[in-house]
Amino acid sequence: MISLSALHVEHPEWRPLLAVIDEALREDDDPHWAGFVPALRHAGAGGRPLLDGAVIEAAPKFIARWTRRILKVAAAAGTEVSALTKAITTGSIDPLLVFEIAVSQDVHRLDELARLVRDDRGVIHGLAPLIARPMLQACRRKWADRVPADWAEGRCPICGGAPALEELRGLDGSRHLRCGGCGGEWGSAWLRCPFCGETDHEQLGSLMSPDSLERQTVEVCESCRGYVKTITTLTPIPPRDVVVFDLATLVLDLAALERGYCRPATRRRGVAVNVVAEPSWLRDLIGLRP
Ligand SMILES: [Zn+2]
Ligand SMILES: [Zn+2]
Repeated sequence: MISLSALHVEHPEWRPLLAVIDEALREDDDPHWAGFVPALRHAGAGGRPLLDGAVIEAAPKFIARWTRRILKVAAAAGTEVSALTKAITTGSIDPLLVFEIAVSQDVHRLDELARLVRDDRGVIHGLAPLIARPMLQACRRKWADRVPADWAEGRCPICGGAPALEELRGLDGSRHLRCGGCGGEWGSAWLRCPFCGETDHEQLGSLMSPDSLERQTVEVCESCRGYVKTITTLTPIPPRDVVVFDLATLVLDLAALERGYCRPATRRRGVAVNVVAEPSWLRDLIGLRP
């Protein structure tokens, strides 16, 4: 079984990343996040993730505290986050906006934010999934049983994230794509590319020999050049651990990238989501709200 503490031992050089993942995993347990899960606005028909179009009402102070905390942990572990931290502490960027962009997983909005705070090292793109994570996990806990049974997209039916990996699960080897952000899962089909729908077996392949005893392979599609890591499991990977399995199989990503395949996360479009300050009885009381 793969665990975060095992990764700490095996890869001490990953400490800056593991420290923030540790913090984000701990944050999953804070019950406040469940209170911010928005009402569902649609049933996920037509390949629309459940989070798309949502309005999240969150407590600004709580979100600001969480954002500052993860930046502090990142800084303590040696990641250069001073530009974003400064932008937040001086008030030039609203933490709610940073949080909204992180939850949207929209690459274009993340690029814009990175430009705004002059982050040219990809720090924001790296931290955003962890800033969004506790919110996405809370949505999955509430919405997992609302996922359309016929969902066949290459992105998560709950949060719209790209799949971190695919499980070949149990004795029958049923296929399940897993989301690293929210921990969600959805079914996929043998010999069908989840990203572009290609079904021509000539265009679909595997980077490792199919008859090897390897429990891990990479499935690739020549039509869209996308890839997905496939892991054989007996039982489902617990939702909170998908990110750990994703990290532990980094060598598979490198094998695919080296051969010119890409993880579709780099071109995904994210979801439209608004994060607004939750109505406060205190503000109502002192007449700050109409
Ligand atoms: Zn998801
Ligand atoms: Zn494809």
